[in-house]
Amino acid sequence: MSELSKEYNFKQVEEKWERSWDSSIYYFDWESKKPQYIIDTPPPYPTGNFHIGNALNWCYIDFAARYKRMQGYNVMFPQGWDCHGLPTEVKVEQLNHITKNQVPREEFRRLCEKLTEEAIDRFHKSMGRLGLSIDWSNEYATMKPEYYVKTQTSFVRMHEKGLIYREDHPVNWCPRCGTAIALAEVEYDSRTSTLNYMHFCAEDGEIEIATSRPELLPACVAVAVHPEDQRYQKYIGKTVNVPLFNYSVPVLADRAVDSSFGSGFVMICTFGDKQDVRWWMEHHLPLRQAIDRGGRMMPIAGPYSGLTVEETKEKITQDLTEQGIIFKQEPLEQNVGLCWRCKTPIEILSEQQWFVRIDAPEIKKVAEEIEWIPPHMHVRLENWADSMEWDWCISRQRIFATPIPAWYCRHCHEALVAEESWLPLDPNLTQPPKKCKCGSSEFIPEQDVLDTWMDSSISALAVAGWPDRTDLRMPTQLRPQGHDIIRTWAFYTILRTGALEGIRPWDAILINGMALGEDGHKMSKSLNNFIRPEEVFESNGADALRQWAAIGGSPGNDIPFQWKEITAASRFQQKLWSIFRFSLPLIAPSDAVAGQVDRWLSAELDQLITKTTEAMDRFQFDEALKAIRAFAWDVLADNYIELVKARLYGQDGPEKRAAQDTLFTALETLARLMAPFTPFLSEEIYHTLTGQSVHVQSWPVAQGQPMDRAGLAIKEVASTLRRYKAEKGVALNSPLPGIVVYSDLDLETADLAGVANSPVESRTGKPSLEMKPIAVKPQMKVIGPRFRDKSQRIIMALMGMDPADIARQKEAGSIEVDLDGEILELPPEAAEVEIQTLSAGEAVDILKTKEATVLVRR
Ligand SMILES: [Zn+2]
Ligand SMILES: [Zn+2]
Repeated sequence: MSELSKEYNFKQVEEKWERSWDSSIYYFDWESKKPQYIIDTPPPYPTGNFHIGNALNWCYIDFAARYKRMQGYNVMFPQGWDCHGLPTEVKVEQLNHITKNQVPREEFRRLCEKLTEEAIDRFHKSMGRLGLSIDWSNEYATMKPEYYVKTQTSFVRMHEKGLIYREDHPVNWCPRCGTAIALAEVEYDSRTSTLNYMHFCAEDGEIEIATSRPELLPACVAVAVHPEDQRYQKYIGKTVNVPLFNYSVPVLADRAVDSSFGSGFVMICTFGDKQDVRWWMEHHLPLRQAIDRGGRMMPIAGPYSGLTVEETKEKITQDLTEQGIIFKQEPLEQNVGLCWRCKTPIEILSEQQWFVRIDAPEIKKVAEEIEWIPPHMHVRLENWADSMEWDWCISRQRIFATPIPAWYCRHCHEALVAEESWLPLDPNLTQPPKKCKCGSSEFIPEQDVLDTWMDSSISALAVAGWPDRTDLRMPTQLRPQGHDIIRTWAFYTILRTGALEGIRPWDAILINGMALGEDGHKMSKSLNNFIRPEEVFESNGADALRQWAAIGGSPGNDIPFQWKEITAASRFQQKLWSIFRFSLPLIAPSDAVAGQVDRWLSAELDQLITKTTEAMDRFQFDEALKAIRAFAWDVLADNYIELVKARLYGQDGPEKRAAQDTLFTALETLARLMAPFTPFLSEEIYHTLTGQSVHVQSWPVAQGQPMDRAGLAIKEVASTLRRYKAEKGVALNSPLPGIVVYSDLDLETADLAGVANSPVESRTGKPSLEMKPIAVKPQMKVIGPRFRDKSQRIIMALMGMDPADIARQKEAGSIEVDLDGEILELPPEAAEVEIQTLSAGEAVDILKTKEATVLVRR
């Protein structure tokens, strides 16, 4: 066997295994009889690079996948790519100095695909280096026809079921991105704006109206008051005149009006916010759309037409103030809806869009069948479901996305949705192979595309074989994901799986936290707390980064990246390597009968297996790895190996072979327990020991080995002896004159003799001991203050007395001294007596442990 290096060379070991591993051992076997464990992994958005946050989440998935695989499950750890979307489009525009409308749709799409492919290549590299056990036979990319045919199929099927429809309806709109967005993509943030008080002319005098959005004046369709507002009763049912634009609108009564806000009158516009939409629908008001798709004012805004919303706000406020219509202004704190991708304030526009019907009670019902880890995350989904007012708007006015498989008849304008057998298709490139109901065969393609969540919300179905396999593997077992996408990815997946197959998507959902910078803030380049996984691969290796992910905290919590954890991980790897390097030439499996100390270690190992298994079952990876580290460091290295060194180096025989076997088993088991966390180091150790890969082995099973009390007692005696030597300032390997251990457990002495490097005798029962006073120690601090100038003489007298006599007097309550005939009475604390313990006439030190009394000859 070649000599192992003293220092653990993580780089050499990790790169070697990354090159030589056969990834097909991680493939899901569709024919297997083993129980399945399919993980509905998140398809990341492939732009930029694989970052620490990805690393954290993928480590969690890998820990679970490797553990379940070793436990005998047929595991699928697929890897998808959620390719479509705006950030890629924007990047393509920037890189090529174009806007999406300057090149043909197909050309633009190709540029997006190319950029995405490059990003996927980078992700592949990082993922391989991190040692992830991904099943590459189940890789998917949502931009590929093999995948988007599934998205289109789901669209067609849900449309047939009446769960997808097209309608003119107010939608959230990002003017910068130029597209509709779903409610789930609106973020709210508080901003300070201005509340403007205006005069409106009524039939009978003037009313006051307060608004923060004077630019929506041309979109005003009514004003409203609370029906019980006594101040304004006479206006209800009448009309008022909209200033500047000079048209009349009705005065409505509605209980949703807050009388205490502003003047108590509220302006209803189409649309300032969601409340406007509610009023607009309830009161059947007309539509006056004043803002267009690009965020500019429409002709209805008269002189402001063509200006942006912001420009209009400024100009119209100035005009209204000059004309005395605005007569008061005050600051206003309000929640503003922002586009979650670009943070631009959203507008609400009425548009023809495609919608998915949301059945919130049904989604809540399914969510209850799923195990939520941690459980409180379930509430977030329930709260979101309860807040649903509108259906899910799924059409987007973009290019790089799954095409909506539909056309419109040029003659009768009827929409024609594709049939399943025509898919996949892009309606811009393909005409439908049949005529419209009206007989026309001229169609206009649907140019809108699908929300990317329409792709990713069928991920569970797709990996489970939908729609082609007859043995659909639903539900899958686990969905790992971040808490930031509960209301999107989790919600939509439950919705879609239910709508398409009437089943829950997963048995359990594991919610992970975010990786933070070392300072506890979100990692960002501007805060200078940004770490790339590659930096850690270079400095400490992938196993160290994986250990940080495991030990940084329990899943669900946000976890700061910490170099000190990386350093601790490397130290642990070096420790384990040193143990391994020491052990390798000395160990071998055998069937020799184990001694007390060996049985103690086996029981400790058994407890470790139980503890680790139980923690892994609960996804508490930090608990599992902490238990492994404690065992390796304290139990194995500091105690067991120290105890059995003498046997290992000693003469051949059953005792030696028992130690060789026990240590071999401990290392072999540790390598398996650590395989999910440190796949490289574990492989290096396991492969050296057995010639096989640790990653096709089974998870260790506890043998029900009872704790060996005698072995445990020996371990405790050994630690006590070590401490004794340290306190006495004696080198650990220097011999002691002799040791006798008394215990009812009939302890084996060989290992103790080895660890103490001294003869050890084992006896049952209790030692018979004699306490002999041997010296007097006068206490100056007691004598001095009381006897002053006599002190020195008292001390001399005490020193001359028999220590046994003084001990007796102390017991009686006072000590008498004779100073040349003058008898003085001293308090008992004036002198201490040193007692020596004797056993069979010999002086000994006594050390006590829970199960033993140890006599050490002096
Ligand atoms: Zn936007
Ligand atoms: Zn037609």
